[in-house]
Amino acid sequence: MLLAEERELIVEFGRKLLASQLTTGSGGNLSIFNRKENLVAIKPTGVDYHLMKPEDVVVLTPEGEKVDGALKPSSETRFHLALLKHRPDINAVVHTHQVYATTIACMNWELPAVHYLVGFSGNKVPLAKYATFGTQELSDNIIAAIGKYNACLMSNHGIVTVGQSIQSAFNTAEELELVSRLYYQTKCIGEPVILGDDEMKIICEKFKTYGQQ
Ligand code: 13P
Ligand code: ZN
Repeated sequence: MLLAEERELIVEFGRKLLASQLTTGSGGNLSIFNRKENLVAIKPTGVDYHLMKPEDVVVLTPEGEKVDGALKPSSETRFHLALLKHRPDINAVVHTHQVYATTIACMNWELPAVHYLVGFSGNKVPLAKYATFGTQELSDNIIAAIGKYNACLMSNHGIVTVGQSIQSAFNTAEELELVSRLYYQTKCIGEPVILGDDEMKIICEKFKTYGQQ
């Protein structure tokens, strides 16, 4: 089976998205780029994560041509491939409809540095303009908004995160859900204090060596 390891990871992290309540049913999608093989493993469209098997995961060329898998790839294949092409520093993409981040996206707000953990994205999480799911316009809007950030809110839709590994893209989605919730809650009781860009620069630098190296 082509990209056997990556297909197992798509199944494993799809279930983790459900377990962490970052998505429901078949919502959201994930992809992993094996740059050595020059092939992408991506979630099949509309398949419940509980039922997804490694062989259901679709394998594509970076141009979107299917090379393995019987099912249709994710309806959001366009923006997954565009991100993997535009960002040579990343190998994985996660998209979810996680509730608090999506709440902020439904306000068409960016997520500011209300907590230092926004550093998983950068000094904020930028916002992509709305376009219908699955369209080239949505893909273009995400590429225009994300720049060098590791995440981007999608107006009236959800969030997309990127990382060197599927684990790091998943972690970013999880931490940004906490920050989104904090932003929502602080907005409910007043006006939150936002960390400045200088402090966020220090945080982003510290994150590079955080944890077991
Ligand atoms: P897929 O099931 O086609 O991956 O779509 C889910 C989704 O979140 C669309 O934005
Ligand atoms: Zn979606």
